[in-house]
Amino acid sequence: MSGKRCCKPTVKRALVCVILLGMPVRSVASPHAPRQAQGPRLSDNARVRAALDWFTPNISWVNDQQARITEIPAPPFQEAQRAAALKVLLAETGLAVQIDKAGNVIAELPGANEKEIVVVAAHLDTVFPPGTNVKVHRDGSRMTAPGISDNGSGVAALLALVRAVQFAHLKPQRTILFVADVGEEGEGNLRGMRAIVDSYRGKLKAAVVLDGSGTDHVTTKALASRRLEALITGPGGHSWSDFGMPNPINALVRGSVRFINTKVPASPRTTFNIGQIEGGTSVNSIPHEARLKVDIRSESEDELARLESALRDCIAAGVRDEMESARDRTKGKLEWKVELLGSRPGGELAPDSPLLAALRAADEFVGNQSRIERSSTDANIPLSLGIEAIAIGAGGNGGGAHSLQEWYDSAGREIGLKRALLTILGVSGVAEEKAR
Ligand SMILES: [Zn+2]
Repeated sequence: MSGKRCCKPTVKRALVCVILLGMPVRSVASPHAPRQAQGPRLSDNARVRAALDWFTPNISWVNDQQARITEIPAPPFQEAQRAAALKVLLAETGLAVQIDKAGNVIAELPGANEKEIVVVAAHLDTVFPPGTNVKVHRDGSRMTAPGISDNGSGVAALLALVRAVQFAHLKPQRTILFVADVGEEGEGNLRGMRAIVDSYRGKLKAAVVLDGSGTDHVTTKALASRRLEALITGPGGHSWSDFGMPNPINALVRGSVRFINTKVPASPRTTFNIGQIEGGTSVNSIPHEARLKVDIRSESEDELARLESALRDCIAAGVRDEMESARDRTKGKLEWKVELLGSRPGGELAPDSPLLAALRAADEFVGNQSRIERSSTDANIPLSLGIEAIAIGAGGNGGGAHSLQEWYDSAGREIGLKRALLTILGVSGVAEEKAR
């Protein structure tokens, strides 16, 4: 609905006005135009302004929450403790908060139209295993800890956004669900976002994903990926007395060498990574099993399928090579299998989508420029189903994601928070007070 139409000054009766952001948002009004005749802009709304103004004086509070959240371990499939903390923090803002069956924390800001939903999501999980030291080291605006940026910054931003809209008593047109979701990383396989999309399918109109730091990009293209595990098993034995027996690690290494020599195209960009390799029991034992985990990604589903079958062929060939070179096959043979651990579907946001227009208008308002990116995020799920979605950074700067040296610098983070808020309100709309 056009804001111009609903806010025409000639309309006297009480009405509910929706302000959409798909129009210029600079708040400088033409001196010739009487106030009521201006096209409504998101940033002209007093409550939107109040929410925008909440961020700057509260940045140190947001930073403190980020450190606190990051120090609660959230390894894959073990997000419950962090989720419980988020539930408390979100409930303090006055919203109704629940944890769904998947483990997602969902805070609901009811809109004037509760039949339409906008989801704002930040993933709770990290890639780091239990026992990782997640103590945050702070030095001025810089914080260092595993997970501080990905996704401590996104989760802190989620909390800040809820605080800001509640502080300003903002009522959206569409209901907004603020979601701290589980299972984004690795073998979580986007299970949290899958559950959200399942639960709200039909009502869900747009999703804005806050992932990591920065304001330099907007992910509108979902990178398709697959995670595979190759497992090779054999009888196992003694390094000396059973020498010559087929060795699963040997076979895995033979197959891996073949696989890493697979040619992949630069365009469509296609990548692979052997990310984990394990097996064996001791240095003087012929192992009874060996496994490796591989992540493959491509801009093309065809290349993805080709690479997956290359992995199967290479593992099969590695096993064959090892069997052929084994001196003693009487003690059993090697078995192998390659299993799909996870698959993330691809998809793209239409260039003329209202969500992208809202993001662009928000960028313009905060004086930011961002480039379109293709990436693998929670946005993959809605995008693969034709639901508008983007993933953006939550502001500030960060680096070293997925490493123990991960860092985040909060300088300028309010720009990212304002950008996120205006984008969200741009697609949710703002329900105005009744006009007099
Ligand atoms: Zn992330």
